[in-house]
Parts: sequence; structure tokens; C-alpha cells
Amino acid sequence: MAYPDQWLSELLSKSDIVSVVSSYVDLKPKGHRLWGLCPVHGEKTASFSVSPDRQLYYCFGCHIGGSVIQFIMDVEHMTFPEAVEHLANRAGMAMPEEVNDAAMQRDRAKRERLAEACKLAARFYMKTLLGEQGASGRAYLKKRGITSESVKRFGIGYAPAEWEALKRYLGEKGYSPEELVEAGLLVKNDQSGRTYDAYRGRVIFPIIAANGRVIGFGARVLNNEEKPKYINTGDTLLYNKRNNLYGLNLQKSGKLNDLVMVEGYTDVIGLFEAGVTNAVASLGTALTQQQARLLKRYVSNVYIAYDGDAAGQNATIRGLDILTAEGLSVRVIVFPNGQDPDEFVRKNGKEGFDRLKEDALALNAFKLEAMARNFSMEKENEREQYAMDACRFIATLSPVERERYYLELSKKTGYSLETLRAQGESARPLDRQQPVTTRKEQLTASRRRSANEMESERARAESALLFHMLQSRAALNLAKERDLEKLFSDEGLRVFARALVNANARGEEPNLPLILSGMEKYDAERVSAAFKEEAVCAEPEKAAKDCLCRIERCEMAEKIEDIKRELSEPSLTAGKRAELLKQMQTLNLQMRGLN
Ligand SMILES: [Zn+2]
Repeated sequence: MAYPDQWLSELLSKSDIVSVVSSYVDLKPKGHRLWGLCPVHGEKTASFSVSPDRQLYYCFGCHIGGSVIQFIMDVEHMTFPEAVEHLANRAGMAMPEEVNDAAMQRDRAKRERLAEACKLAARFYMKTLLGEQGASGRAYLKKRGITSESVKRFGIGYAPAEWEALKRYLGEKGYSPEELVEAGLLVKNDQSGRTYDAYRGRVIFPIIAANGRVIGFGARVLNNEEKPKYINTGDTLLYNKRNNLYGLNLQKSGKLNDLVMVEGYTDVIGLFEAGVTNAVASLGTALTQQQARLLKRYVSNVYIAYDGDAAGQNATIRGLDILTAEGLSVRVIVFPNGQDPDEFVRKNGKEGFDRLKEDALALNAFKLEAMARNFSMEKENEREQYAMDACRFIATLSPVERERYYLELSKKTGYSLETLRAQGESARPLDRQQPVTTRKEQLTASRRRSANEMESERARAESALLFHMLQSRAALNLAKERDLEKLFSDEGLRVFARALVNANARGEEPNLPLILSGMEKYDAERVSAAFKEEAVCAEPEKAAKDCLCRIERCEMAEKIEDIKRELSEPSLTAGKRAELLKQMQTLNLQMRGLN
């Protein structure tokens, strides 16, 4: 870490977590903790908690947590150094002079410089749009119905149709072509080595990070004949398209009920102009897991509003799966006649959009709709095929959902409820033509399930052990005798346990927020989650022993699962089989001995 421990620990002692959090969240005491509405995920009942004793926070809803520094990172969308500086200002402390990590210092200076170049470029493009050279850009925006207010709000600009306009402009400000290539503003021809402006004769949409910094650009052609329609900044030190969302800088976490995911820049802008101010766009890519996690920091409800064309609908299905996997509640807004959101909202206004939003489809309803689109309901054989496919899908759902979707299917296809139900029943796993799951899939699923259960039992035991280690030196010594690397399967807990043991070896009391502050954000969250139970224990040593036993048992169970997997291999020789069975028997005996 780049900050001296002593300086950081002074900063932490001057930044009491309760007083820092209180300027964002109204906290009320209950038990050992203070509680309030989470400032990151929108909620109506308090699941955000602060522990004054431990100087850490944890949200039981969205699982963010850590020290006061990580709290500022979450709530202000800052990086670690930014949050440290923010708190230092608040505490009236000067930043430490010597930062010992020279490489990190250089890296930071470079980022600053590239960010400055991007900011200057965005200004240059906007000035060009409003000036003489921007006439064609302005004409395009006017045709699309984009107002001058939006130009200001979104910082829209125009790149002149020249090879070196931006290169010259930023060159005069002291930027080398190499730097500008690195910022994604120039491109370099590999053969000739020549560098020139990355965007020419295009309308420019700056991509602005949640902290307000310009980090990249999207550039659109003026006429639809030219290809590619959009060019986006590739990955740079500042910008990675998988980790960012367009329009997120305009959103305030904690104040939102939901966010609307759209495909393009102009959808976000069009919706905003119509009064739908909570739209964000994935940037020229299929939605990623990182983006889903980013969304989760703001809301727990997401609407997907992709284009009505086939590509948009396929992207919707992928997006649904990614968002659902991250635990977000997702619904799909379907636009009539293949329109895109921008088109629709310009014709029908916010009221029209809100009506569609009310009718938004849940995951399974949308999948059925998407299936229906492949068939024409006018043709009897296609209608029949659709009904059979849909029944096979419905048969896999819960009884309540089955009831609902059979009813809808009946309305759509004209088949009676009885017929559809019978069809669905016959289509359930027994259907030999197209089984819903094969035997092998079922086996894998059941193994995965038991592996998950084991993992959570193990995670609970590891968390509890860490808690006891913090509470009692005897418990710490017990754990220290084991191999910490093997004991903790969770990387976050492992890092923390190591730090505890090291502090103990130096004869120091462990400084919880200081250790947490030195950890990766995700790892710190894991540790905060581990400390969410405030079970003060009378006999921590005994409890720690019990945890060690539980972890050991999980380890053996994992080994047994591995052996079972090997045993199911058909090519196994008789000798090997006997050997594996013997190993399994020994493990089973050992496991019983642990009880
Ligand atoms: Zn939360």
C-alpha cells in the first residue's frame, strides 16, 4: 500500500465511521449496531449497519462493507486514493509527502494526465460542434431531435473531418502523440508509424465515469451508409467498456427505484429528454457481469429496454440471464413494431413509456414471447408447434407459474387449458424425444447442489473462526498452528487472518479498520460479512476448536465427492476401483471420528 501505516491509522482515528456515515445516512441504534437506509441500494427498511466498536459497516441487503475508506468509495464512487484524499481533507490532514511506491505514483500521474487529455478533447469536440465546422453535426442532432440542452448535459461534440485536428490542438497543450494514442484519442498506423485522430467527421458522445471524469468516447457517423456506425474507445488505462455504463454519472444512488438498461447513447438521451432520467446504456457490447454488479450498487430492480429488432431481443435474453444471476430483479419492456426506445418515447412521451413499463414482462413471460416470435399463429401447423414448445418450457416452471402461463398460452393459441396441461405433463422429463434434462445433467446438478451446501457450511465455519480469532488470543493461537492458506478457502478471509496473526506476532492489538483498508474492496466486503453476526462467545477457544473441526469435516466431504466422481468413470479398472473404495472408507471413518 502506498500510504504509511502510521499516517493511515491516524487518518482512520480522525475519521470516526459513525460521524462520516451520519452525513449520508440517518442512523439509529439497535443492539450493538447503528442502522439506517442503505445509501447505495435503494430500500425502504433499514438493512445498512455500522458497528462503532469495530469501525466497520455492512449492508445486509447489497453486501457492501468495510472500513470508512471503503464506505466513501461506495457512496462517492471514488477510487481508493480518491477516498483517502477526501477523508484527509475532511480531517484537515495533509497528504503524506513521500509515497514509497514509485511505480504506483507514476501510474497515478499518468492516469491523471490521460484524464486531463480526455477532458480537453471533450471540450474541443463540443466547441467544434458549436462552431463553424460543426454545422453538419448540428444538423444531424437536430434531425434526431436532440436539443441543445442535451448537448450541454451529455457534453456532446463533433470531431472535424480532418486527420490531425485534435492531434494539433492537444499537441500545442504539450501532449505527445504516444500519450494520445494511449488515451485512445489518436490511432497509430502500424506500418507507417503515423498517428492521426481516432474520430473524424463524427458526432461525439463522451463516456463519463460515475465520479464525473471523461474516460472515453463513442463516435457516430452522420449518415447510415458509412460503416462502422459507431466507433468506441478501446481499452485504455482509464476506460474498459466491460466495466462502465453510459449515463451512470447522472444517477444518484440511494434515490432510485430502478434503472432502465438501453442499448445506445441516443436511447439514454432521448429518454432523458422525455423525462425518463434513469436510463443507462451498455457500451457497444453485450451486458457483462461487471456491469451487472455496477448496476447492483445503485438499484435492485432493472428494466431491460432493448431495441425491438431480432438482435436487440437476443441481447435481451442474454442480459436477463446475467442480471438474474447477479440477484437483480429484472423485467423486460417490449416496444411495439420493433421500435427502439428513442423512437418510441419521441412519439409517445413519458406517459407512453410508463405504461409500457407497467406491462413489462417477467423473465419467463419474456422467454415465451420470444419463442412465439419464431412462429406464425395464423398457420395451424406453426401454432401447434409453438404450443408444444411452449408447453415443454412451462412444464419446467413452478406450479403457480404453470397455472398462469397455461392460461395465457390458451388465449394465444386457442387450445383448451386441459389440452395444454396434458401436453405439458407428457412433455415433462419422461418425453424421450427431447428430455428437459438428461440423466447426466441431473447428476451434475445434484452434485453441484451438494457442493454448494458444503461451501456454505465451510464459509460459515471460516467466518465464525475468524470472529473467535479476533476475540481471543487463545483462539488465534489455535488457528495459527494450522496452515492458514489451507484453512481458509476464501481469499478475503485468508488475507485478514494472516494480518491478524502478523499483528499478534509483533505484539500489537489488531487494528481492524486499518487491516480492512489495506485489502481489496471485494475481500474487505467478505470480511465485513463474516463479522455481521455479533455473537459474543463465552468460550472462544472451545468455539474455535469446533470451527476447526467443521472445516476439517468439509474438507473430507470434498475429498469424498472427488472420489465419487472418479468412481463414476466408466473406464475405471477393477484395481483402481477397489483402491478408491478403500480410500473412501477410510475418509468416512475419519469423519465419524471427528464428531
Ligand atoms: Zn445496501
